[in-house]
Amino acid sequence: MAALIGVLPGDGIGPEVIAEALKVLDTIARLGGHRFETRQALIGGAAMDAAGSSFPGETRALALDAQAVLLGAVGGPKWTDPAAPDRPEKGLLDLRAAMGVYANIRPVVTHPTLYGASPLKPERLQGVDIMVVRELTGGIYFGRKERGVDSASDLCSYTRAEITRLLRIAGTLARGRRRKVASIDKVNVLETSRLWRAVATELFAQEFPDVALEHVLVDAAAMHLLSRPADFDVIVTENMFGDILTDEASMLVGSMGMLPSASLDGSGRGLYEPIHGSAPDIAGRGIANPCGTILSVAMMLRHTFNLPAEARRIESAVAAVLEAGLRTRDIAAAGQEVVGTAAMGDAIVARLRAAA
Ligand code: NAD
Repeated sequence: MAALIGVLPGDGIGPEVIAEALKVLDTIARLGGHRFETRQALIGGAAMDAAGSSFPGETRALALDAQAVLLGAVGGPKWTDPAAPDRPEKGLLDLRAAMGVYANIRPVVTHPTLYGASPLKPERLQGVDIMVVRELTGGIYFGRKERGVDSASDLCSYTRAEITRLLRIAGTLARGRRRKVASIDKVNVLETSRLWRAVATELFAQEFPDVALEHVLVDAAAMHLLSRPADFDVIVTENMFGDILTDEASMLVGSMGMLPSASLDGSGRGLYEPIHGSAPDIAGRGIANPCGTILSVAMMLRHTFNLPAEARRIESAVAAVLEAGLRTRDIAAAGQEVVGTAAMGDAIVARLRAAA
């Protein structure tokens, strides 16, 4: 039986980048003799317009049936009323909750040919290969919220079970990499961080004695990400610290358009999406960079379908077209020739075929 993949293109450039990712998935399936069934559904603003909800029942059913979900992006200027009861971004939060994906993982790998696109000096970018593991369903974003006239509070809480399951994913990922984990906290002021650090120390001693664990304060980590990014292997942290550090880390690569992500539930099921949004400023023009979404397909093959060789083939094909000088507008140097979304997708497909 073919594995089922739910495909949710969403809004703005979502459908444009998803179209290229599906070309790549189809090519890799044909070359390797794998069978995937892809089924599309609506999410976000497109779903609100067509079905009256940002996360319709049909989409929920598909997300629960599928082994993996590939998402484009949601949102746009048409649906920005903050007082509206439903919003495109709510569809995405509902999707993550329905799938129970609690670990967001984001690789940050620099490409020598794109050093110029990053604000950092090239010598700092050499050899950067980081995997950030962020807790996605707990912490201050989900704690009790209170608002008085002149005061407000957001509760940050974590349980041992929530911390343990996330750290286990980080430890397991580190074993397939350079066996180093930096656990980020704010142990000098936060009680949740004290629990976090104690759980990390205990778990790594018991279950991952072969992995080097270091604890880093979040303020120092923010600095080290810019001053010595190549020293990091796996970074693991709670929800809000991870939200901030992953955006900071994306600047090492230069463009949001290059970066993939996976959100996992610990059983192999996952939600895969580029880190960028729907980019309404360039939507409909065929100029969006599809690489982040194509690399998300590679993550899906590795983490849900256990096909690491196929994942590497996609990553190598993306690296090869960059080395050959192909650039979408977001990663082009001044005066450099640029290609559109479909041409970039086609070039990656051609590389995959040529390398087969
Ligand atoms: P954005 O990521 O959509 O765009 C930020 C900038 O990066 C824009 O200038 C855009 O043109 C550029 N960019 C992003 N992706 C690109 C790509 N693949 N190729 C080339 N350039 C790219 O963020 P934003 O403008 O703050 O948000 C736009 C909408 O997207 C909002 O409605 C927001 O809520 C939504 N959003 C959705 C997600 C998601 O679906 N996961 C994430 C972030 C923002």
